[in-house]
Amino acid sequence: MKGKTRSQSLSRLIRYSMNTSTLFTILVFAVIVTILLSIVIRPLAQLGAQLVAHSTMREMTSPAFPENHGIAALEDMSEESPGYADWKAAVERQEIVNYRIPLIDGSKPLVYDEGREMPRHLHTVDMAIELEGRVLFRSAMLPSSGTVRESLKERNWLYEYFNKPYEAAILDEDGRQIGLITARIYPPLLVEIVGVTAFLMLLLGMLCFFVNYLLGKWLIGPLIRSLHQLRDAFRQLADGDVDELFEKGLRMDRPYDEIGEIAVQAGRIIGNTKMYMEQLQEKNEKLEAQQLVLTRHATTDGLTGLINRRHFLELIGERLHEPGLALMLLDIDDFKPVNDTYGHVSGDTVLAGFAALLREGFGDSGVAGRFGGEEFAVFLTGVTQEQALDAAERLRGAIERTSFVLTDGQEIGVTSSIGILHADGNLQTFEELYQQADAALYASKKSGKNRATLFGSGTGRPPETTGA
Ligand code: GH3
Ligand code: MG
Ligand code: MG
Repeated sequence: MKGKTRSQSLSRLIRYSMNTSTLFTILVFAVIVTILLSIVIRPLAQLGAQLVAHSTMREMTSPAFPENHGIAALEDMSEESPGYADWKAAVERQEIVNYRIPLIDGSKPLVYDEGREMPRHLHTVDMAIELEGRVLFRSAMLPSSGTVRESLKERNWLYEYFNKPYEAAILDEDGRQIGLITARIYPPLLVEIVGVTAFLMLLLGMLCFFVNYLLGKWLIGPLIRSLHQLRDAFRQLADGDVDELFEKGLRMDRPYDEIGEIAVQAGRIIGNTKMYMEQLQEKNEKLEAQQLVLTRHATTDGLTGLINRRHFLELIGERLHEPGLALMLLDIDDFKPVNDTYGHVSGDTVLAGFAALLREGFGDSGVAGRFGGEEFAVFLTGVTQEQALDAAERLRGAIERTSFVLTDGQEIGVTSSIGILHADGNLQTFEELYQQADAALYASKKSGKNRATLFGSGTGRPPETTGA
């Protein structure tokens, strides 16, 4: 693999993508709501401002406020009264959009509702009328300094955008623009609509998150569970903890197509592994059985069941430093005539019986082995010289007293010559022990057979001979 790839949890990835998509949805939703709001609210705001402006204009041209349109107060409202015709003409010239305002006498700008200040939040409209460069009317809440546009400005761009002012030109008889009416409705409601919408959207967003979370749990949960089951199966397989897996197979709560495919392949791996393991186990058992036979053949003498010379050396090799060790070498006396007289099979019977005597005589306390032909060896530790000699003598006596029963029922007896080497604390090699024990055996043969000879301390010393 090239470079480093950061490992990622699948569940985290899914959660992340779901949250991102939710956020994206909310964002798109917010944009749509904003567009819808602007479609509805902007014209509404303009319409409201327009209505209020028109009614104000009507009042301005009404006989109730004569000072507002430059006509002397009409005390007499009859058609004959002076000035009525002018006023009537002024009223009649009104149009819905283009107001024709009669010119005002004097230079003093008129203030509608002068001196009546309302709190801003109750104030429904800001309005200004400019005529021939003069500000003819400015509603009480508008600051008197600056241009009308500037004084209508609000700091909030959102407000600025949604609450678009209404503007209408004032035209003269010839249709030329001589003035401008500017009005902006000032509804706290507008701010409230935006605020409430924002709050609703926040609530909706939270609802989306919650629904998203529940949906995620409901939809993604089983997928993650299936993946975990798959992972656990592989983990068991890798750990070799396969008993349950082999018995019950791979279990999946919900087989999704893609995971199901992996599960099928995993099931095949498990099945094959199970088969291979069973085959291996079978082979192993066979091999172990063969190994056992081979080991027995390699270490044991087939005729007598005693260990052979090689294994004997292996066993005692590491015990040569133990205190009070004795090596006995035994050779059956005149064995050749036994073979010659009774046959080789009978000779074998005697050899097997002889070996049995050695086993019975020492059991676990000594190591007995067949060294070849009719020669045997016994190894003892933790014995004194006298004890070793006694043991050899007891064995010799037992052999002498034993009758070996042949296959045809005949009974024959043999004797054995024994050579003993006892060593106490002096570390010696097996070759040294063997040579000295062999010398003692030779001495037994030399001095008439059927006896046990202890090799004295120091090589070359004449052996002590006991027994008959
Ligand atoms: P000695 O008293 O001097 O030991 O005389 P011996 O006849 O015992 O000695 P020798 O070495 O001349 O003879 C040993 C005989 O043991 C020769 C061989 O035929 C016999 N023998 C060796 N191995 C076996 C065996 O496995 N089975 C049988 N039946 N005879 C064996
Ligand atoms: Mg021999
Ligand atoms: Mg012999």
